[in-house]
Formats: sequence, structure tokens, C-alpha cells
Amino acid sequence: MTTALLNALRFAARKHRDQRRKGVEASPYVNHVIDVATVLACEGAVTDEHLLLAAILHDTVEDTATTFEELSAEFGRAFELLVREVTDDKSLPKEARKQLQIERARASSPLAKQLKIADKISNVREIALSPPKGWSFQRRTEYFDWAERVVAGCRDVNPALDAAFDAAVRNARNALALAE
Ligand code: ZN
Repeated sequence: MTTALLNALRFAARKHRDQRRKGVEASPYVNHVIDVATVLACEGAVTDEHLLLAAILHDTVEDTATTFEELSAEFGRAFELLVREVTDDKSLPKEARKQLQIERARASSPLAKQLKIADKISNVREIALSPPKGWSFQRRTEYFDWAERVVAGCRDVNPALDAAFDAAVRNARNALALAE
């Protein structure tokens, strides 16, 4: 497994190499996927190697030129399918994509649900600590509201992740209230 995980890290680092997160700190994008895998392992006590590897790869198709075929050839069909579950259709307008995430969460597989929660935990924390430039109080609040609606459909698979998400949103809202 260590070899597979290292390969996935190398693959993700190469694919995301020219990308930065939208936050004011503009941290390298790959930090986010490492963060999501770490949240799963350390806070969700996830030991499923399949899930940890998919976490490393989860944004490659959505945010880089990677194709599902490439993922399948490199890591296998099972990873491709799991990444598909958490990948937005970028041909749709943003509002439609956000609505679909809410609607599709409940029907997702247990692995995809955990990955979605860990992704939202990472994003909520980052928006609280290093919000994207120009994001108003309202825009950040709306993000937290939306993330809660997506996560509502992902609960009860991994209670530790559910609790970590709730704490992340609570802390983010408190920090936002203090900053205003
Ligand atoms: Zn992500």
C-alpha cells in the first residue's frame, strides 16, 4: 500500500503542480488533497486504503486535465468509480453543480460519503483561516450553509467525521462572528 499511496501522491502533485488554492495564502493545491486524506486517517480513523488513495486523487479530474480513463489506467477501475462519485460535472453552471451535490449526497456510496465530508471539513477550515480574496461575510456564511446541506446526506457512516465536520463549521462561524 505504501507504494500505491506514494504513486498517488506523486501523480496528484504533478497534476496539481501549477495550481494554488483560492485562499489569500494561495497555498499549493496539493496541500488540500493531502489534508483531506489526513483528516480521514487521523480524525475519521479510516484505515481503508482504497479510500485514502481516492482522497489523494479526488480533485484530479475536476480541477486538472486528467481524464477518468487515465485514472482507471493508472490506478484501476475501482478508484475511477469512486473519484467519479465526488467529481462535479464542470459543463454545468456553478449553481446547478452545487445543487446536484446536495441531491446526490444521500445516494452516494459509504466511501464517497466519507470522502465528501472530509473534503468539506478541509474546505470549511481553510475558508475560516484563509478565505478566498474578496469573499464577503455573507459569501463565507453561504458556503458553510451549503456544506451543511451536502453533509446532511453523508452522515451516519463515520460518526467521528460527522463530529469533526460539526466542530469545523461551529469554529468557522464563531471565528467569522468575532471578525465582524
Ligand atoms: Zn477537494
